[in-house]
Amino acid sequence: MNILQRLDACIELNDEERMLLDSVRTLCRDRIAPRAAHFDRTAEFPWEHVKAINEIGLNAMFIPDAYEGAQMSYTAYLACVREISQACASTGIIWATNYHSMKPLIDWGTEAQKQRLLPRIAQGGMGALAITEPGAGSDATGMRTAFREDGDEIVINGGKTFITNGDVADLYLLFGKWEGISGAKESISVLVLEKGTPGLSVVRLEDKMGTRASSTATLAFDNCRVPRANLLGNPGDGLKILFASLNKSRPSVAAHALGIARAAFEDAIAYINERKQSGKRILEFQGIQFMVADMASELALVESYLWQIGRLVDSGVTDFGIEASLLKMRASDLAMRAATDAVQLLGGYGYCKDYRAERLMRDAKITQIWEGTNQVHRQLIGRSFLQR
Ligand SMILES: Cc1cc2nc3c(=O)[nH]c(=O)nc-3n(C[C@H](O)[C@H](O)[C@H](O)COP(=O)(O)OP(=O)(O)OC[C@H]3O[C@@H](n4cnc5c(N)ncnc54)[C@H](O)[C@@H]3O)c2cc1C
Repeated sequence: MNILQRLDACIELNDEERMLLDSVRTLCRDRIAPRAAHFDRTAEFPWEHVKAINEIGLNAMFIPDAYEGAQMSYTAYLACVREISQACASTGIIWATNYHSMKPLIDWGTEAQKQRLLPRIAQGGMGALAITEPGAGSDATGMRTAFREDGDEIVINGGKTFITNGDVADLYLLFGKWEGISGAKESISVLVLEKGTPGLSVVRLEDKMGTRASSTATLAFDNCRVPRANLLGNPGDGLKILFASLNKSRPSVAAHALGIARAAFEDAIAYINERKQSGKRILEFQGIQFMVADMASELALVESYLWQIGRLVDSGVTDFGIEASLLKMRASDLAMRAATDAVQLLGGYGYCKDYRAERLMRDAKITQIWEGTNQVHRQLIGRSFLQR
């Protein structure tokens, strides 16, 4: 066992969670990893992977038992995200987005909302989290999508951009501004929009550098009507719900990034143990050993921190926003660096599509951009040390 395998063996999971993780590993090895290059090349949505994930009922692991789920720990969830993302970064983010979009409903929804909506996701339905707009990226308070109350209904007008799963979702967790409440922050509200609602349309799908099989949609809302019963909390509760949910989704995108980083590291190590130049294996050169040592030590430390945050959340801690920022920032910077180094270590072959390193380098880039860019996270972390 190398140090990273030893670290994996120490992840705190119960027997049931370990068995599930083993099934996910088998699924990734046999069905997801072998088709990842195909889906990257064609940019087709990987329904075949979603079907495989649903065959083992994986969504249920983050849905409480009362709503047809079979809830497991946050640590077990993070371990599954990392595993799937290591096999296929597109599939990893597609699945994780189900969690990102439904966790606020689980945490903030009423009993009636959860009874009505969550079983659909537990049975394999897809979710989307819709915050970003063309004029509101890093600063979500600039969003313009409008929610207007009309009797027992809410009328939605506006649009969202860059929405993962936006064209395939069954349920959308949608943020907008409540007409009649003034203030860019105070008016933010959140509701659940259901697939097939008249007035909801997909305007375009992005043709991306990486995570190409995951769909990224621009959505338009033209007088969409949803029942008032789909509002989460009260009008104006949106920002509070947004911050609380980002705390849980940031470690999740860190796990996604660490899946990419681990794939890059393992591919590079396998290659430089085989490839010879000047009569030696590449890994026998000291300059290369230094690169490997830097990658391995950073992987070991950031992965350890991922499991630490998992334990923190599982122990009931809720105030971990800065820890989540720190983890997201370091994991995504590591993914980019490990993937770039893997390409370097494979030499000219790393630059060609026959090897996975090329895809990993493209997949890694987005991890530094979404769920708060790393500039924004550096600002949040630095600012947290300002003395009041
Ligand atoms: C593939 C993909 C999938 C996505 N999925 C989703 C999704 O499912 N749901 C969703 O709502 N959104 C999603 N997004 C949107 C993503 O979260 C935003 O792209 C991201 O928040 C950045 O916003 P922006 O692109 O408008 O960049 P901008 O906010 O315009 O930033 C441009 C540059 O300015 C920098 N910058 C901005 N503000 C500051 C600051 N205060 N200090 C320092 N630098 C700053 C940024 O770091 C960046 O380098 C996705 C995006 C992509 C590309």
